[in-house]
Amino acid sequence: MSCQRSFDAGAYVLAALDDDEAAAFAAHLPACKHCRDEVDHLRHGAEALALAVPQLQPPPALRDRIMRDVQADAALLAPRKPAPQPRRRWSLGLQPLTAAACACALVAFGAAGAAVIGGDDGPSSRTLAADVAPPGAKASLRVDGARGTLELAGMSNPGGGRVYQVWLVKGDGPPRPTHTLFTVRRDGRASVQIDAPIKGVREILVSAEPPRGSDAPTSAPVIRATPA
Ligand SMILES: [Zn+2]
Repeated sequence: MSCQRSFDAGAYVLAALDDDEAAAFAAHLPACKHCRDEVDHLRHGAEALALAVPQLQPPPALRDRIMRDVQADAALLAPRKPAPQPRRRWSLGLQPLTAAACACALVAFGAAGAAVIGGDDGPSSRTLAADVAPPGAKASLRVDGARGTLELAGMSNPGGGRVYQVWLVKGDGPPRPTHTLFTVRRDGRASVQIDAPIKGVREILVSAEPPRGSDAPTSAPVIRATPA
């Protein structure tokens, strides 16, 4: 019946496709009656217009604008494609959907201590609430095998040119530095993948440190997560 490629028919008739697009569309025509009919129909209209008005070459900018309108109309008239399936895995919080899902999880479980707040993303993956010092801030720790990702919201940056640094505590030992230094985005969020395995780690801490990080924490931790 209809054909996605028929959006290009108008541009094809007006010779507004680039060479490759035009060749591809022309090659498609013998196989697609819908597009052939569309081209015939539009060609008649274009010829009628050509007879009715004096031929003027529109300035390129105008032609581009018209073609954008034509294509926008074609897109509006096009059959709706099925909406893409939401991704079940959290990537790094870059997708709006992911961010929204993350926010829900944080809002719902911010007060749940170390309860497991997620677990349907795979057998080895879970999300744990984390303690966070700044009022209004939320943090959770996503554990995926030996890998940990902190998901933060409502945080502000430490200021004074400092950054946040992630520390790992094993047993009763001192906090060991990681190379994971970060700042939060302007909207107060950050998704921070810890660059060291968290297997066997008792606590994950975050503190404000100088821009290149420290060997030992120089300020009290603002986030404390327990991966166990
Ligand atoms: Zn077609």
